[in-house]
Amino acid sequence: MKLLEDRIKSEGRILPGNVLKVSSFLNHQLDPTLIMELGKEFARLFEKEAPNKILTIETSGIPIAFATGAALKIPVIFAKKHKTSNIFGDAYNSVVHSYTHGCDYTVIVEREFLNQGDRVLLIDDFLANGKALDGLLEIVEQAGAKAVGAGIAIEKGFQEGGARLRSNGLKVESLAIIDHMDENSITFLE
Ligand code: 5GP
Repeated sequence: MKLLEDRIKSEGRILPGNVLKVSSFLNHQLDPTLIMELGKEFARLFEKEAPNKILTIETSGIPIAFATGAALKIPVIFAKKHKTSNIFGDAYNSVVHSYTHGCDYTVIVEREFLNQGDRVLLIDDFLANGKALDGLLEIVEQAGAKAVGAGIAIEKGFQEGGARLRSNGLKVESLAIIDHMDENSITFLE
């Protein structure tokens, strides 16, 4: 999506460890106009899969998921992050390794919000090694629901998550796929 690629090119900053910072429009300050456009595009890309719920992971997935839910007129659930792993009683839960913080955390979703028969669209801001999506997929499985696809704003195509998840049969649509990035330039896959 050219609109997103242009913003990444003009405002993105690359940090050590292959981390792209897009804090001026997606990760700290939010650009509502841009994010609503991302939501409309995901709605267009996944309309045929007929999702009835969206699942994302806090924090940065929430605005994009919200915009997508508004476009598709379906509810949005965000998995909550916790540092400890055994205080959740009956909630669905899964352990995720954080790419940006280098630690493990547990994500939980209350059982009442996801059920057997739900058709779930996963949304997140970034896809790198796919651990965040793995955690969300595990929660969908625990609920007996079906993941109908994953919409990602920015995929780092040089990391393995996208290829692995697609080869497992998941429909993954990323609005900007970075082919290469260094201090001097960012290039995208067509
Ligand atoms: P994965 O689990 O696919 O390895 O990484 C995806 C998660 O890590 C996303 O939820 C995102 O919050 C974070 N992440 C991964 N790479 C980046 C990056 O380059 N920049 C930012 N801002 N977040 C990232």
